Amino acid sequence: MNKFYEIVRFIKNLYSGKEVIPLHAPVFVGDEKKYLNDCIDSTYVSYVGEFVNKAEKKLSEITGAKYVVTTSSGTTALHIALMVAGVKPDTEVITQPLTFVATCNAILHCNAKPAFIDIEKETLGLDPNKLEDFLKHKTIYKNGKIYNKFTGREITAILPVHIFGHPCKIEEIIKIANRYNLPVIEDAAEAMGSLYKNKHCGTFGNIGILSFNGNKIVTSGGGGAIITNDEALAQRARHISSTAKVPHKYYFIHDELGYNYRMPALNAAFLLAQLENLENFVAKKRELAKKYEEFFTQMGIEFLKEPPNARSNYWLNTIFFKDQNERDEFLEYSNQNQVQTRAIWNLMPTLPHLKDCYVDDITTAIDIQKRGVNIPSGVRG
Ligand SMILES: *Cc1c(COP(=O)(O)O)cnc(C)c1O
Repeated sequence: MNKFYEIVRFIKNLYSGKEVIPLHAPVFVGDEKKYLNDCIDSTYVSYVGEFVNKAEKKLSEITGAKYVVTTSSGTTALHIALMVAGVKPDTEVITQPLTFVATCNAILHCNAKPAFIDIEKETLGLDPNKLEDFLKHKTIYKNGKIYNKFTGREITAILPVHIFGHPCKIEEIIKIANRYNLPVIEDAAEAMGSLYKNKHCGTFGNIGILSFNGNKIVTSGGGGAIITNDEALAQRARHISSTAKVPHKYYFIHDELGYNYRMPALNAAFLLAQLENLENFVAKKRELAKKYEEFFTQMGIEFLKEPPNARSNYWLNTIFFKDQNERDEFLEYSNQNQVQTRAIWNLMPTLPHLKDCYVDDITTAIDIQKRGVNIPSGVRG
């Protein structure tokens, strides 16, 4: 209890002056209102207009991705990214059991199924060793295709996640994926501003996605983006996310089933202002993480640090208790004392709509989920 008291006191000091300390809160210190006004004055508030182009250009500059397609959410971005990368109905997509549910929902939206491979402790991302072990020993090869030995389903993609803004072992994952000729779609929803070897998360694989939901490091109210260096994938993503409309002066031609997944200009205007402050937010979040790291190290509590060669955005700071009991006691204590803390998401294979999926050995994910807690991570502008 004494330990809990000290943690809560430390966090309250960091955020002095606040009644209840939220886990994360968005910050609007830039031109959000001005750009919204400009957008309204332009009358182009919906899917076309300058602000969509401006936000996409800005995202391209920040991430280094040649092509950016903004979308209505991170989930819709992921749905489109999976489809254009070649995920077909009744196939499987390898992903991790520890992630936000949207990762798996997007796979189901393709009428495909996740196949769960474990995470590793250092980054909480997909474990390259277990991935390789699965592909080597638990699959069958037929006519250039790979099938899960246990479910019989074809495997069509690998979907690693950069958890809490920490870059996963993406280079190793891609090396393995290339050997098995599988596309890699990066879920970088939490990793806006996170770099690995100076390259932005989401730009290593064939295609990546970002989210601008209200709880992420920058927000558009709601929204997302597809990022890629592959022109063909980008063109196809733009086409099917905008009702598959073939440009024409006055005829309405839609040449296949499309989706209305675009980001409205109002949201893009808001996003542009947020993105102009991204570096400022990342710097402040890194300062905060440093304070946490020093404090928890001295307390003898495990704190999740960025991996080597990475610049993490430290979207959500994470600590680990010794067991589930201690974690639950801390969650109860901190929340009762006006400090919002949260358990890590329940593992995906435990959710009712994901119960019948293939689950590999996931001992690390089970251990991490039981002991991990997210602590307040918001910054002032
Ligand atoms: C937030 C998030 C998403 C989905 O983003 P939305 O914009 O909320 O649809 C996908 N994957 C992960 C890991 C996320 O954290």
